[in-house]
Order: sequence, then C-alpha cells, then structure tokens
Amino acid sequence: MRAGIGYDVHPLVEKRKLILGGVEIPFEKGLKGHSDADVLMHAVCDALLGAAGLGDIGMHFPDTDPKYKDVSSIQLFIETFQMVQEKGFSVLNIDTIIFAEAPKLSPYRSAMQQNISSAIDLEPDRINIKATTTEGLGMIGKGEGIGAMCVAMIE
Ligand code: MG
Repeated sequence: MRAGIGYDVHPLVEKRKLILGGVEIPFEKGLKGHSDADVLMHAVCDALLGAAGLGDIGMHFPDTDPKYKDVSSIQLFIETFQMVQEKGFSVLNIDTIIFAEAPKLSPYRSAMQQNISSAIDLEPDRINIKATTTEGLGMIGKGEGIGAMCVAMIE
C-alpha cells in the first residue's frame, strides 16, 4: 500500500470559467492556467503520481505544450490514472480538500465526486471532497486564488 500527496493553487481572474472537479461553477471569476486550471484535479493527479512514484503533473503535462492549452483536467486525470494502472497499481481512495473563500462549494460536491468516480470507474464512496475557507486569511482568504490538497492511497 502506498500514499501520495498533491497540492495546487491557481489565481482567480476575470473572464475565466471556474471549473472544479470537472464541474463548471457559476462565479464572477475563474481560475487562470494553461489548462482549464481545475486546481482540484491537479492536486488529485499529483497525489496519484506521487503514490506511484511517477513524478509530478508538470513532468507529464507541461504547461508549455500547446496540446494541453485549455484541456479538461478530467482528461489529464484519466491519463494519470492510466499511467498508475500501467505500473500495476489500483486506487484505494482519494481524499481532498478545496480551499476557497467563495463561492460556496457544498452544492457541487456530489457532482465533483461523481465526475471523478465515473472518469476512472472508482466507487463514489472511495472519493471524498471537502471544502473549507481560510477564514479571510492570506491569498485564498482575500479571494486571490483557490487551492486544493489531496491524499491518495494505491496498492
Ligand atoms: Mg495546476
């Protein structure tokens, strides 16, 4: 059994869609990045890659590669999962935290869980999505960005 950790932050800017866990969430700003900037899925990918000893997301999906411009991070997650599978591992569980001052994310939690579940055909109860604010503190508390953390177990 092996564990991996993932962490990511993206800036919130105008004229971008806010996509978390593959769900488009109505909000006045969205996350800036080369891909769709789905910070939750990036943390999940890094946790899986870490657990499998496969490096990090930047190595496999460089943000200088035009192929990944505006790509859905659910797609990156599927490709990550395939790499983990090719090394002979299966995923036991994925636990996550999203750090955001706004918007309120609880209405979208089950849709995110469902997206992750169906992308890699993993039972929904092996995927957990949590969300918290930072009580107004720091860059996330000031609404400058959204962060995410993930721990994944594989065997
Ligand atoms: Mg990222």
